[in-house]
Amino acid sequence: MLTDQQILRIPGPSPIPPSVSLAMAQPMIGHRGQSTSDMLSVIRPKLKRVFGTEQEVLILTASGTAGLEAAVVNAVAPHDEVLVIVSGAFGERFADICKTYNIQTHLIETEWGKAATVSDITEAFEAHPNIRAVFMTYCETSTGVLNPVKELAAEIRSRSEALIIVDGVSCIGGVETRMDEWGLDIVVSGSQKAFMLPAGLAFIAVSDRAWNKIERNPQPRFYLDLKKHQDNLIKDTTPFTPALSLLFGLQKALELMEEEGLVNVYARHDRLMKMTRSAFKALGVPLLTEDKDASPTVTAVKPADFDAEVLRKVLKGEFAMEVAGGQKILANKIFRIGHMGYCSPADMLQAIAAIEIAIAKAGGEIQLGSGVRAAQQEYLKGANG
Ligand SMILES: *Cc1c(COP(=O)(O)O)cnc(C)c1O
Repeated sequence: MLTDQQILRIPGPSPIPPSVSLAMAQPMIGHRGQSTSDMLSVIRPKLKRVFGTEQEVLILTASGTAGLEAAVVNAVAPHDEVLVIVSGAFGERFADICKTYNIQTHLIETEWGKAATVSDITEAFEAHPNIRAVFMTYCETSTGVLNPVKELAAEIRSRSEALIIVDGVSCIGGVETRMDEWGLDIVVSGSQKAFMLPAGLAFIAVSDRAWNKIERNPQPRFYLDLKKHQDNLIKDTTPFTPALSLLFGLQKALELMEEEGLVNVYARHDRLMKMTRSAFKALGVPLLTEDKDASPTVTAVKPADFDAEVLRKVLKGEFAMEVAGGQKILANKIFRIGHMGYCSPADMLQAIAAIEIAIAKAGGEIQLGSGVRAAQQEYLKGANG
């Protein structure tokens, strides 16, 4: 086996385009110089388009979780009541952050593998009318569910001024997001998922409604004080030393997304999801989620007659291909395939072909080639490149 080939099909970190790797290898520059400001001035409008907002998208040197914590410490006051939608491990993380800051936290808990519904929101607000913020996960990476953020937000807006805070780490850049139009207040993402970069940047966009609250919020914060980042970014600077190499990469990655066209980027992810799902349906291997709840960036598969962990070992050992296992209550029960960012239909055909071999080796009863064939047919349905 080739020793330097890695085929990453996990839901983040995701593969990096060669042109992005090269951009990140540029010599270091001074972070207070004109080149850094010029770079930020190019990045700012492009990031806004990906988030669907006129607001600044703040860039913190941190992993995605710092973005989630920044949302909590900036926008929630110590004794506020909040609602967290928990549809998997990342919803739990939002709830854990809130509890860490002694915030009164109510939960909507869905069965793992199912999306939250508008009536869940209605019931929660009827039971707790004083909710000041609602936290939700756009793509719940642990289950492959895409929560209907637009619909949930509309329901919240119709009954409350509560801030709507969205974890979009594993789908923004791969799935359409219209922060302003949908009335979202804080939207968080990270660099290592659909943005085609290594981990290390957290992105956070903030609405006027949220700034209002942030400016009056006594909760202490220092590095995570979003106002500092905002005041600097509008002048094309940063309050602290930015991860310049990652910014070189971000500029290139955003350029690639615009060259392809954001609409086409989203259509590609949708097609990757459909190819993947049709393959497992044809193979007779159950998917964790229903079609209506499925995320275009990650697919969870729940085998009935073979061991997901054996499959993962075969893929890694024989093809240097990594898929992810299950988290928490889904450990050893599912495997998850990332198809976000730098991932093409050809990559998925490769992944499905290798996975079929791994299923056979793990003892699953399948007809070799039937998954690839279904994915090929799905590809042809939408084909024009
Ligand atoms: C990856 C991910 C995060 C961020 O995790 P970090 O390891 O802190 O970058 C947050 N939310 C979701 C939904 C994710 O998939």
